[in-house]
This record gives sequence, structure tokens and C-alpha cells, in this order.
Amino acid sequence: MSSRQIIVVGGGAAGVFAAIACAEAMPEAEVTVLEKGPEFLGKVRISGGGRCNVTHACFDPRELASRYPRGGRALIGPFKRFQPRDTAAWFEARGVKLKTERDGRMFPVSDDSQTVVDCLVRAAKAVGVKLRARCGVERVTRRAEGGFNLALAKTSCRPTGRGDTPVAQDDHQSGDKNVAAPSYEAESLVCDRLLLAMGGCRTAAAAELAVSLGHTLEPPVPSLFTFHVATSWLRELSGISVEPVEASVPGTKLRERGALLMTHWGLSGPAILRLSAWGARELHGLDYKFPLHINWLPRLSAEAVAAELQARRDQQSARFVANTPIPPLPARLWERLVLAAGIGRETRWAALPRAAQHGLVQQLIRTEFPVTGKSMNKDEFVTCGGVRLGEVDFKTMESRICPGLYFAGELLDVDGITGGFNFQAAWTTGWIAGRAMAA
Ligand SMILES: Cc1cc2nc3c(=O)[nH]c(=O)nc-3n(C[C@H](O)[C@H](O)[C@H](O)COP(=O)(O)OP(=O)(O)OC[C@H]3O[C@@H](n4cnc5c(N)ncnc54)[C@H](O)[C@@H]3O)c2cc1C
Repeated sequence: MSSRQIIVVGGGAAGVFAAIACAEAMPEAEVTVLEKGPEFLGKVRISGGGRCNVTHACFDPRELASRYPRGGRALIGPFKRFQPRDTAAWFEARGVKLKTERDGRMFPVSDDSQTVVDCLVRAAKAVGVKLRARCGVERVTRRAEGGFNLALAKTSCRPTGRGDTPVAQDDHQSGDKNVAAPSYEAESLVCDRLLLAMGGCRTAAAAELAVSLGHTLEPPVPSLFTFHVATSWLRELSGISVEPVEASVPGTKLRERGALLMTHWGLSGPAILRLSAWGARELHGLDYKFPLHINWLPRLSAEAVAAELQARRDQQSARFVANTPIPPLPARLWERLVLAAGIGRETRWAALPRAAQHGLVQQLIRTEFPVTGKSMNKDEFVTCGGVRLGEVDFKTMESRICPGLYFAGELLDVDGITGGFNFQAAWTTGWIAGRAMAA
């Protein structure tokens, strides 16, 4: 081998970013990204509802790290070296300006994830990174003399020149006479340094490469999901959002405050997604069947809610209870909560029994919903679990077990809440691994 051979397995955000960082830092190295799918950066393209929530405007490394249910502590050091400000500057320097929304999420000003994909592919080509699609890596072994042997799956993958097209062409169909017919023979490759960036391993088998090199896997379970709730009146309120509520799971420490969205299948919105991220393992252990409490008025104490109801009884005694909501609750939700508390639509405040008034306080501060399952969030979902963090040196992202082996992105036991934190972890760990492989 003449120049240093670097191979990155996985052409997602972490892998491509790492490859660029590596090739920029060491132009003489030969950097190749192997992607098993037909296209690179597939998740970036579909991310954030097609807009790609690139990162989050949170610039303090410690505060940023607190948004990661798993891996936060390990990420504090890396965030001191490459954080959202660096991400924004990186993309802006390459022609993609980011804008910040009110809640801190950062998107390309184009509101189009393709801009981000194109930028990364362009940057990779510019520094000579080889992008090879339809190249699934099946096996990796260590070489006695250092470095690694890789066995690729038998596919139509063909070697491409430096910075060649990232989307594999189905050559024999294209009729291009200048392109060699695809080889269906398994191919093997050799490299000095190897980065595994295969993304969230939905199954333990998906992370087999890391395990085969001596690493341990924290069992994968989903994070960032919404809750199925069978309560029929919720369906009638589908599309209504309330902010803030406090959602909690009795018998656990799980408690989150934020916006709640009612859907035709149950409950969603930032409060639920955050609860699902922090409770990913615990809720998996409950088979996603548990009671959920919602406090609809978390800014008021129970006494203050009781006082609000008493004021209505005293001052609006002739009005229907179901027609006199406490702000900021929407009228339709209020009516449903009144009915759920067993109070009829035609009941006036003057005629409301004391026990029913007390029941309404309880309903407002602790509606119980039976959660019966989960759905993945359509805008963003990630896997909790992955390569055990203690086995990786976060100064370089190099394995502590297998020298020359590096990790980045969601393959690690790192995951963030929704809002751009997952891509930030991919950019940060990718950048550090890329630089370290070039060192
Ligand atoms: C629908 C959706 C929307 C999302 N939106 C956002 C968002 O807006 N903001 C945000 O911060 N996060 C978002 N996320 C999460 C984010 O996409 C991931 O955290 C991020 O993509 C992780 O990057 P990665 O490079 O580690 O893994 P991936 O992007 O999953 O890339 C890994 C790549 O490795 C390839 N691969 C796997 N095994 C092999 C193998 N053996 N050989 C070769 N290649 C292999 C895979 O095909 C894949 O292309 C979203 C996730 C989803 C599912």
C-alpha cells in the first residue's frame, strides 16, 4: 500500500462527514466510503419531514449534552471540539446557510434536505473521497501485520474512481459500453484504519461487525416514538395541540413538560417524544403497555386549579360547566375533560355537587390514559443501544479494544431527543473520528 488506506463502512451522516474530515486533514490518504444501499445519505434526505433538522441552536457543550438520554456525558468533551456552531459554520462555508426556528431547531434556509445531501456529496468529491454504493460489508478481520481485511457482500458493486457518482448505476441496464459489466463475485478489501458508521442497529445482527471485532452491544430498542391510546374521545380531538402539559408515567421517574398533540391513534408532540426517549428502555420493558398521567395545567398547583373552579362556581353559577374552560385549555378539550369527570353537558356550576367539582380538579391535573402500544415518529426516530461507550475513546473515537478501529454516529450507544441532536452527534463523532484517522 502506498498511501494510507482508510475505509468507512456506512454512507450516512456520520460516515460521509468523517470521510470528508479525514480526506481534508490528510489529502494523500485514500478514503473510501462503502454503503450497502443504493444511495448515500438516505436518512439525511428523508429527515425532518424532508427539511433536515441539521442541528440545534444550543451552544453550551454541557447543556447540549443534557439532551442525550444515552451518551450525554461521553459527548461533553467532543462537543467542546465540534458543536452546533461548528456545524453551522461548516455548512455555511460550503454554501448551505442554516436558519434557526423559534424552538431552536436549525434547518437549511432552503427548507430542503436535498441541499444538505448535495453539499455533503460535493464536499466529499472535492477532497477525493471514493463513494461506493451497493457495497455491503459482510465480514471484517484483523490482519496480523496491522489493519483490516473486509469481505463485501456479493453485489453489483463496482469500484469507482475518486469522487465518482454516489448513486450506484445499474450498469448492464444503462447500456453504457464504457462501463465494465458488474461483478457478482464477492470482493475483499484491505485498509489501515477502519471506521464503522453503520447507523442505529435495529437488531443485534446489524452490529455484528463491531461484535466480531470484540465489542459489546447494549441491546437495541427504539427511541422517539408516539403512544397508542385507545380512549375514544381523544380521537375526536385529533389535531389539537396543548402547551404546556406535564406527562408522567406513575411508578417511574419519567416526567416531561411540553406541547402535547392529540392524534387519531393517541398522543404525540414534544412532551411525548421526550418521554419516549428518556424512557426508551423502561417502556420497552413494559412492552409499551402502561398508564400515562397528563396534567393539563402544570403551571397551576392543585390548589390553584381548585380555586379557579370555585371562582367559576361563585361568579358564573348560571353557566354550564362544560362551557367555561380554564385558559389556555381549548374549549373542545375542556368539554371532553368535564364529560370524562362524569359531569353532564347541561350541568350548571350552581348545581355541581362538591364531589364532582373535586373529581374535575383530579381530571385536570391527572387524566389517566392506558397506553397500549407505540408508533414510530414519522419525522425522526432513532435507536437506543449500540456499541458500549466505555469501549471507545471519545477523544479520538478509536476503539479501546481494537487499535485502528473507529466508531461514529448512531451505531454507538448514543441517542438524543428530537430537535437536531441526533445529527449533531453524527457530525461531532464523525468529525473527531475523521481527524483522528488522519493523524
Ligand atoms: C425518518 C427519520 C427522520 C429523521 N430526522 C432527523 C432530523 O431531522 N434531525 C436529526 O438530528 N435526526 C434525525 N433523524 C435521526 C438521524 O437520521 C440519525 O440519527 C442519523 O442518520 C444517524 O447517522 P448515522 O450516519 O450514524 O447512520 P445512518 O444515517 O443510518 O447511516 C448508516 C448507513 O450505513 C449503511 N450500512 C449499514 N450496514 C452496512 C454495511 N454492513 N455495509 C455498508 N453499509 C452499511 C446504511 O445503509 C446507512 O446508509 C431521523 C431519523 C429518521 C429515521
